[in-house]
Amino acid sequence: MRVLLYLVVGVIVLTLLRSVLEAVGKAFAGGPSTPASPAEPRGHASQSLKKDPVCGTFVSAATAMQKTKGGETYYFCSATCRDKF
Ligand SMILES: [Zn+2]
Repeated sequence: MRVLLYLVVGVIVLTLLRSVLEAVGKAFAGGPSTPASPAEPRGHASQSLKKDPVCGTFVSAATAMQKTKGGETYYFCSATCRDKF
């Protein structure tokens, strides 16, 4: 009969341990909720290159200076080129 008692106690201890471990794990996992990779779409956008019509340099559409003329958007490497245009 003693063996049965040990078994019962063992199961109870294991159950308690597991619930404690789960609670601790949830506390750690739920704490800092960081999105996987927010910069990825921006990386694709910066890869679209536009040609500077003044000096011929290829510039990133995301960071270049812009000017709209006749319904078309032009991209420039610098304010100097934009002013020359
Ligand atoms: Zn330029």
